[in-house]
Amino acid sequence: MSPPLRVAVAGAGVFGLASALRLVRAGAVVTLHDPALGRPNASAVAAGMLAPLSEALTDPSAAPHLELLLAAQTHWPDFAAAFGAPLDQSGAILLGDADRLEVLDAAAKGLGFMLPAAAEPSALGLGEGVGGLRVSGDWRVEAGDLDRLAQAAQGLGVRLTTAAPKPGGYDLLVVATGASRRFQDLAPELADLTPIKGHILRYRSLIYQGPVLRGPGAYAAPSRDGLLIGATMEVGEGREGVDPKVAADLAARAEAVFPGLIGRDWTAAAGVRAATSDGLPLVGPSSTPGVILACGARRNGWLLAPLVGEIVAAHALGHDPGPWAAHLDPRRVKA
Ligand SMILES: Cc1cc2nc3c(=O)[nH]c(=O)nc-3n(C[C@H](O)[C@H](O)[C@H](O)COP(=O)(O)OP(=O)(O)OC[C@H]3O[C@@H](n4cnc5c(N)ncnc54)[C@H](O)[C@@H]3O)c2cc1C
Repeated sequence: MSPPLRVAVAGAGVFGLASALRLVRAGAVVTLHDPALGRPNASAVAAGMLAPLSEALTDPSAAPHLELLLAAQTHWPDFAAAFGAPLDQSGAILLGDADRLEVLDAAAKGLGFMLPAAAEPSALGLGEGVGGLRVSGDWRVEAGDLDRLAQAAQGLGVRLTTAAPKPGGYDLLVVATGASRRFQDLAPELADLTPIKGHILRYRSLIYQGPVLRGPGAYAAPSRDGLLIGATMEVGEGREGVDPKVAADLAARAEAVFPGLIGRDWTAAAGVRAATSDGLPLVGPSSTPGVILACGARRNGWLLAPLVGEIVAAHALGHDPGPWAAHLDPRRVKA
């Protein structure tokens, strides 16, 4: 019998953890390395929306990839069960004035979806002339459950450490370091990554339950620790930490859509997403043998994570990585 595969995973975000969980379940010996263990990364500050259709309708970079995003969502019920994460299936409401809703309605029909008109959500108030369209297929998880995912991985034998992987100490390296290019010498495909910083606000005194409300300029998402308002897209900005002015601008935008927020206290957090030139992550073998990438999730890292974990594990173990792997192959980008 051959000895089990020893895998070093660099990065304890949702991509690294999903990969580690899948690999250890398949019998690999997995060590997960992250110098910032316990500090909030992009995964930890996210809104946790698993929203293929809303993303395709509101983000031009996601629109061409709707089929893949829908396929990724189908992996979620099993994945959530593996770490005991509740899956909120309340859906979403796309908000806007009559002109915006007409455009969204036409775009949805073009993709084969009918969106019924939605009643106005009263809890947060709504700006004048704002109506809604219901997207029932969107789901959501708590990004705070990243800790549960880490605990589930550890429970199955994944070792977590702040130390760097030691050459010779593993058979295979999985690079899941988010927006960092620290491993670019080893994996030249990482040169394709652009940072996109995102600020997000939390209104602790407002416990809202219901569909995610996606307005122009801001969304409101429920969370057990208070309402979340997101999120900025600061392309090219890779510095960590909250910028008070950017956060205040987001609050002002949100108040225009949800007047019920006016006068409420909020706190801000920020994370740096990594984006590739075609809007899809780099998942699979690097041009360097022995290195597998799982980076570049852009806005949909949580949504894509279980599919990414499956593909990483399949490549690592020499199994068929499935029909979506070719779309995500890192070697497609110019290194
Ligand atoms: C405000 C905001 C809201 C979002 N909302 C959503 C949402 O609703 N739905 C959704 O699907 N996605 C959302 N996203 C996107 C999602 O959070 C990201 O796409 C996803 O978290 C990226 O996961 P990751 O594991 O690639 O990176 P990260 O979560 O950034 O993790 C990378 C990890 O790598 C570690 N690392 C860095 N360098 C090294 C090194 N040299 N060695 C080892 N480890 C290293 C870092 O410390 C970090 O822990 C949001 C993002 C933001 C910022």
